[in-house]
Amino acid sequence: MAASGAPREHRVRVRGAHRPADGRRRTGRLTILGPVRIDLHTHSTASDGTDAPGEVVEAAAAAGLDVVALTDHDTTAGWAQATDAALRTGVALVRGAEISARSGGISVHVLSYLHDPAHAALLDELERTRDARTSRARRMVDLLGEDYPITWEDVLAQTAQGTTIGRPHIADALVAAGHVTDRSAAFATILAPGTPYYVPHYAPGAVAAVRGVRAAGGVPVFAHPGADGRGRVVADAVIEEMAEAGLAGLEVHHRDHDERQRARLDDLARTLGLFVTGSSDYHGAGKPNRLGENTTAPTVLEQIEELGQLDVIR
Ligand code: AMP
Ligand code: ZN
Ligand code: FE
Ligand code: FE
Repeated sequence: MAASGAPREHRVRVRGAHRPADGRRRTGRLTILGPVRIDLHTHSTASDGTDAPGEVVEAAAAAGLDVVALTDHDTTAGWAQATDAALRTGVALVRGAEISARSGGISVHVLSYLHDPAHAALLDELERTRDARTSRARRMVDLLGEDYPITWEDVLAQTAQGTTIGRPHIADALVAAGHVTDRSAAFATILAPGTPYYVPHYAPGAVAAVRGVRAAGGVPVFAHPGADGRGRVVADAVIEEMAEAGLAGLEVHHRDHDERQRARLDDLARTLGLFVTGSSDYHGAGKPNRLGENTTAPTVLEQIEELGQLDVIR
């Protein structure tokens, strides 16, 4: 099925007045005629996005989205603020996270939707990853050394309290110091894997991450599994193993996938009985990705809500 919402009638619960396609404003439980727009992958200042969590939801409302998921890297720290904004704006919120994982030296990102944020095993694992990300970022700052001098304080100055630290924050410090013009330039040159400054960080195995999400009552979806512009991507066999461990879906429609990857992943999803999502991977001003540039079908959101431990906030 196409990623963009099908122009059929879908029943969705929304709070307050909303954006029916026929232009009439109604309140309470209503039927929206026309496509329901669902974007299930965004980042805030709780990780490496540039909008605060509430601002991501406000931006989703302004972009005409009906449903948005907040999926910061390895943290749920933005959920409370995003929830307030969802209740205020009427945009439905899927609480999620993007979990860093690894498979044979390849970085793998597993989206988790609607999991118990207090589940001890998952919490421990995420904390371990966030700690490793911080040590790794410090190491990268050391390695940048005299070539691109920045201090750890320069990085912290780009980072909100409690944020999951990543290369984008180092990129921002490099921009602030005048070494590069923007994040994209930093990623294309200084911070790319293969440069002498790049350091990997600890992350759980891909299969373990899928199991951990399931154990916490979450719905695991493989984020941008075919993003080969960023480095090597995993083979079909790895996705098969993840599916056996409880993977629920593949994020097929993502700007980092060309038509070939989309076709491959669409086939694989069908073969393995996985659902297909499409999302923007919005990072605010930190990346060109625009909210709603890829979307997920309402029937898929229904499956996510059925499988997940938490409700969608409406
Ligand atoms: P890390 O997880 O610390 O290795 O950093 C990866 C993060 O950097 C991901 O969240 C990406 O969204 C982000 N990223 C990757 N490439 C770029 C780019 N060209 N411009 C801005 N952000 C990027
Ligand atoms: Zn990111
Ligand atoms: Fe990712
Ligand atoms: Fe992401």
